[in-house]
Amino acid sequence: MKVVYLDNNATTQVAPEVLEAILPYFHDFYGNPSSMHAFGGQIGAHIRTAREQVASLLGAHPDEIIFTSCGTESDNAAIRSALYADPEKRHIVTSRVEHPAVRALCAQLSGQGYRITELAVDKDGRLDMEQYEQSLTPDTVLASLMWANNETGVIFPVEKAAAIAREKGILFHTDAVQAAGKIPIDMGKNTIDMLSISGHKLHAPKGIAALYVRKGTKFSPVMVGGHQERGRRGGTENTPSIIGLGKACELARQNLSQENTQVKKLRDRLETALLNAIPKSRINGDTEHRLPNTTNISFEFVEGEGILLMLDLYGICASSGSACTSGSLQPSHVLRAMGVPFTMAHGSIRFSLSIYNTDEDVDMVIEKLPPIIERLRSMSPYWTGDK
Ligand code: PLP
Repeated sequence: MKVVYLDNNATTQVAPEVLEAILPYFHDFYGNPSSMHAFGGQIGAHIRTAREQVASLLGAHPDEIIFTSCGTESDNAAIRSALYADPEKRHIVTSRVEHPAVRALCAQLSGQGYRITELAVDKDGRLDMEQYEQSLTPDTVLASLMWANNETGVIFPVEKAAAIAREKGILFHTDAVQAAGKIPIDMGKNTIDMLSISGHKLHAPKGIAALYVRKGTKFSPVMVGGHQERGRRGGTENTPSIIGLGKACELARQNLSQENTQVKKLRDRLETALLNAIPKSRINGDTEHRLPNTTNISFEFVEGEGILLMLDLYGICASSGSACTSGSLQPSHVLRAMGVPFTMAHGSIRFSLSIYNTDEDVDMVIEKLPPIIERLRSMSPYWTGDK
């Protein structure tokens, strides 16, 4: 059965060009870049190229890129580094809709005496910038706000938020794991101090990521050991994956306009057709400031899990809530923070597309989903018709 993969915010297919670039590093170029011999030493130059490719996607300098193992590590490293850098300050500002990579760490820090302000969002998942500004105090060590939300695709005005933090002398980190490769990022044009990205969200393998740290920002490593990454992250380099991340970033830069034309057009066609065909359905999140590949749609009076199981029978992959929260039947923390009514939040499905999706993929969902919803609703004691 053909797989129709519309779950690209959970993870993506490794690009064929990336796979091709990686393979020689398992058998031809397997040396350790720290070795004294030329066989190992040559790898350093290849890693340098990858670092340049990552930096180029972000409009950054290569020295500002630290390779890590995942987006979660990048987020943890950024936040913990900020705390080490200024141990006197005990307040962190973040939002209620962050990924668990930030939220769970903040919850842990709260148990260790840090005061955490989790900013609320409105019904469309937007931040109140006045409230944000008021939340920053002389005791605030860091503000960490995601660039784009993994569940709804809603984009936060992080560049504006970073400028406000900078004025008050407060470090600013953004989790750009979902934004990188989908919307333009130019670190030369903002004052964000630290930024996280993750390879497997942009067609590189799982287990490789990067943290951008602006030149001049005090950085204390979390992973200490060898001198790798100029002492900022110990551990022998994951060479194949670093090469893969570099290649993926180069491709992402080339494909950025495609994300905002081809992928967006497919997403919009899918969304419009479903909203027209299915009564009592609605989009979750601000549609003006949103990633071009993501739509989160609620279908009232049905369970998201039921929809997913039935879509799965046709090989259609989507997600209810986020990949990390769909193990539980609770509506996601993001939709709850937006105040989406319970009957709507339960029946929410996220479709997230990539440049590898086609018109046929979208046609398949448009054909299969309306009868699935009709069938599930006919079994619901709460469904009283589309009036
Ligand atoms: N931040 C966001 C917004 C994400 O969507 C994810 C993954 O879903 C992460 C962080 C964690 O990234 P990783 O899976 O590479 O640890």
